[in-house]
Amino acid sequence: MARYAGPVCRLCRREGMKLFLKGERCYAEKCAIEKRNVPPGSQQGRRRRPMKVMGYGLQLREKQKVKRTYGVLESQFRRYFAEAERQRGITGETLLQLLERRLDNVVYRLGLATSRPQARQLVRHGHFYVNGKRADVPSYSLKEGDAVSVRERSNKKASILYAMEEVKGRGIPGWLQFDASAMTGRVASLPTREQINLPVQEQLIVELYSK
Ligand code: SF4
Repeated sequence: MARYAGPVCRLCRREGMKLFLKGERCYAEKCAIEKRNVPPGSQQGRRRRPMKVMGYGLQLREKQKVKRTYGVLESQFRRYFAEAERQRGITGETLLQLLERRLDNVVYRLGLATSRPQARQLVRHGHFYVNGKRADVPSYSLKEGDAVSVRERSNKKASILYAMEEVKGRGIPGWLQFDASAMTGRVASLPTREQINLPVQEQLIVELYSK
């Protein structure tokens, strides 16, 4: 299935929550969820009614929230789930941990991009090193102790410098460390569920795929 190329705020409105797909706008009053949190197709001015989604519908919505937040396709998402099932621990938490460890997500979390979609593009364009080697695969899975740095020729790139300013407002999660002067981040530890700031019920995704 192709990657979604339509208006991204529509995805947030569909899920009824912020998915943070548009950079600084997501933190401003201009955010569509702040202004008009109604599902796509609703009549102008009508507020979202509390939806009674249950069972399969609820499980599906939780899966869509996570998939859209990290910008992965269904087939990739299923592979992450299969990997989470293989590993020890709580499958739902492991699934989120695997997604958090993606290079594009870490670039975003470190504040080197204003959104995950922008981070994915910057990674693809080869602006980062992992442990001193060029890394241009957004799904690259980082391990504890890995270092992510900005390539020398990219350290004056306006979008990266702008993102670094912007992240001061939202902060960096505790499982990552960042040295702004060296433009280098490090995975200090693997993220715990508490450190993954994502308001979803991952157990429902496990139930969905376990049918
Ligand atoms: Fe979602 Fe960001 Fe658009 Fe708000 S501005 S609706 S968080 S993509």
